[in-house]
Amino acid sequence: MALIKCKECGKEFSDMAEACPNCGYNPTRAKEKAMGLKPKEERKSKTVALLLTFFLWFVAGGHFYTGNLAFGIAVLIAGSISLVVGLAPIFFFALAIIEIINFIRIASMDQAEFDKTYNGLEK
Ligand SMILES: [Zn+2]
Repeated sequence: MALIKCKECGKEFSDMAEACPNCGYNPTRAKEKAMGLKPKEERKSKTVALLLTFFLWFVAGGHFYTGNLAFGIAVLIAGSISLVVGLAPIFFFALAIIEIINFIRIASMDQAEFDKTYNGLEK
């Protein structure tokens, strides 16, 4: 265990502590913020994105999770219309292909690329 000097208030605290007990400065969080990452509890998980894309492909589950609401809503509307007008087989065949490509795209990303795409601060 070592003591590190707080960048905010200048007091020393244990490097085992997550944040400075005096002012609340969190070195890990500061580093992630500098990298443009959202706080950990707000970040999307690549595993969840893949599971939703795989199991809920027919309602664009992966897109809703990763924040692409416009695409998800478009799929729900187009899917409903296709069911009413009897074009569901064509629609869901096309959607399945799109979602297979989307699944492969997310699966082939490494964590850094996934974070840059879905967990950036500006998104
Ligand atoms: Zn401090």
